[in-house]
Amino acid sequence: MTDPADATPGLQADTGLEARLASVRHGIADAAHAAHRSPDELTLVVVTKFHPASLVRELAVLGVTDVGENRHQEAEAKAAELADLALTWHFVGQLQSKKARQARRYAHVVQSLDRASVVDAFAPTETEPTPPVIDGFVQVNLTPYASRGGVQPDDVDALVERILLTGTIRLRGVMAVAPLDEDPRPAFARLRGISERVRTIAPDAGDISAGMSGDYAEAIAEGATHLRIGSAITGNRPPAR
Ligand SMILES: *Cc1c(COP(=O)(O)O)cnc(C)c1O
Repeated sequence: MTDPADATPGLQADTGLEARLASVRHGIADAAHAAHRSPDELTLVVVTKFHPASLVRELAVLGVTDVGENRHQEAEAKAAELADLALTWHFVGQLQSKKARQARRYAHVVQSLDRASVVDAFAPTETEPTPPVIDGFVQVNLTPYASRGGVQPDDVDALVERILLTGTIRLRGVMAVAPLDEDPRPAFARLRGISERVRTIAPDAGDISAGMSGDYAEAIAEGATHLRIGSAITGNRPPAR
């Protein structure tokens, strides 16, 4: 438990948020050292889905710079409420092409590019010839099940080519969620192989977004540059509204 005297001013001392964030930051540093990597290469994206904007504000006070959301309406509302903070907003959920066009108004990074129609939604149109440029990750499905979201490994190259053609997506790399029924480490190793292939087409797209609360150490061991961590920091998510 945090001693109220030690808590950052302005924060509720009893949430445990500060302690959980510190513990995850230690865990990230330990995993980086074990992998002979510098923690400076790693971007922590705190996934704040289902939590109120007030929690995101507390995280910002604690030095968090990057937050992730997976539902368009919720993300849009929080980003508007917190527009006074210099946060980088990552969209990590499934997008329909209609919502994608709206998401680019607040999302700086879209990590879930997984279909041609979603990619095309970020391209210039006649009515919006110079849309905002966003950073993007191709979401790769590491399972054989189409329902899990993400593009199959064999279709990654074609989607990368399409992204490069838009001129409005700065491709950063690949993103994936570890399969539920497999050891995460070999799955993240496959993602690393796919990342190497992507770099032969898009040399600047070397980032790898992988690793959540339960498997970020394995992701760091396999070259992840972006960690998407939710519940280990925020505590349990409130039920969906
Ligand atoms: C919710 C979510 C996370 C964070 O999951 P935790 O297990 O709470 O850390 C990461 N990535 C995506 C795509 C998510 O939807």
